[in-house]
Amino acid sequence: MKPTFAPYQQLLKRAREISLLAGAADLLAWDQETYMPPRALDFRAAQLARLGGMTHRLFTAPAVGRWIAACEDLGYPADSDEAANVREWRRAYDRQTKVPAALVEEFQRVKSLAREAWLEARRRAEFPVFRPHLEKVLDLSRRVADCWGYQESPYDALLDEYEPGARVRDLKTLFAELRPAIVELAGAAAEQSRRVPENLLRGRYPVERQQEFNREVAEAIGFNFEAGRVDATAHPFCTTLGPRDCRLTTRYDETNFASSLYGILHEAGHGLYDQGLPTDHYGTPLGSFVSLGIHESQSRLWENHVGRSLAFWERWHPCACHYFPHLKKLSPAQITAAVNRVRPSFIRVEADQVTYDLHIILRFEIETQLVEGRLAVADVPAAWNENFEKMLGLKVPNDAQGCLQDIHWSMGGLGYFPTYTLGNLNAAQLMRAARRANRRLDKKLAAGDYAPLLEWLRANVHRHGRRWKAPELMRRATGEVTQARHHLCYLKEKFGN
Ligand code: ZN
Repeated sequence: MKPTFAPYQQLLKRAREISLLAGAADLLAWDQETYMPPRALDFRAAQLARLGGMTHRLFTAPAVGRWIAACEDLGYPADSDEAANVREWRRAYDRQTKVPAALVEEFQRVKSLAREAWLEARRRAEFPVFRPHLEKVLDLSRRVADCWGYQESPYDALLDEYEPGARVRDLKTLFAELRPAIVELAGAAAEQSRRVPENLLRGRYPVERQQEFNREVAEAIGFNFEAGRVDATAHPFCTTLGPRDCRLTTRYDETNFASSLYGILHEAGHGLYDQGLPTDHYGTPLGSFVSLGIHESQSRLWENHVGRSLAFWERWHPCACHYFPHLKKLSPAQITAAVNRVRPSFIRVEADQVTYDLHIILRFEIETQLVEGRLAVADVPAAWNENFEKMLGLKVPNDAQGCLQDIHWSMGGLGYFPTYTLGNLNAAQLMRAARRANRRLDKKLAAGDYAPLLEWLRANVHRHGRRWKAPELMRRATGEVTQARHHLCYLKEKFGN
């Protein structure tokens, strides 16, 4: 076929141009979260808005639409690099051009006001302060979903922004299997965890020592510090600013090293994915991640399946004792038990591995009901509290610890939450497939040799970029699309008695 076809070359050139600007915007955003002095905020916001507008105009220009159409007419072979890029450019182009500019601007305005109102509402634990803003966000989200189009549920259109190809119908099936099984397991696991004292790991952990220990661990799992770095923030994240420039962040608690360590293992999992994407394709779909549910599977795999295992602590105990001598009084098994404590709690981001998905299922049920018009915004707190008690057995004391805890809705992020649970399911399924492909994998992991696992992930997930959508990627890597049972098996084996 013609690799030099002019419209395709134009698209590549435009994609590179956009990636240069987007990388600059990402650097400014990273700086805002890490080092920027607070009073610089207004000017920074203006810079980011300007850069965002420039990249949007570059990509939605009518010429781009003509180039994509010309490539489609030419008809690249289905399994070619070009076909994959053209398919994804088409998808992004349609989504970005189908929403009228006036609606985009209105949504932007509504979101910035909603964010302020949400902060205030959460501070005062008063849902009515946020209610009119959530009503507007919901209304605009539905209008955007109408522009994008959908077959069964408007929620499908929103979901597609974060998890292309996912459908409400499939998620309902997965979650219906997860919900009762996890509720049952959580009770038993919490009972067992009572034997583990809550403050077992409490001590004094100087930040510099945590940094050194974390770096050793991140390097051991394969994170490349020649092409990445770690900084401190309030809310840990991973961002990639260009090929070979991956930034991780974490937060430090001087009384408990586990917070920064698992923050780093999680973000380094994201970082390993970004570092494993093909750099020659940077800025094009083939150099991009598949979906949030796949991205999250990489972080959860390293954080939980590797980092929260007994094998991990048998390997790292001596090193941890070198940096934090008082850990000598604990055995690897005790540390493992401490970092796997199960206890139902109100806040999603602090939830343990077993109950975490219940927090997501609750949000998914509420969001789909809102978007499908089966629940009024005014009834969200009551629906939340009732369902929360049913699943987690706790009475929500106030909305700050209930339906006001997450930032997502104020940012218009309806449809985002399910990707966290998809990440958990995919992680368990990928880990199982990696074990099947390499019978010596657990021996290697126990010896602290993480290269075989990383190589498997590179070969089966990372290096394909966005060649396939998530279901197809999972099918090729593991033999089936995302299932609930592998995650359930893993949880039962680890937390069941
Ligand atoms: Zn993550």
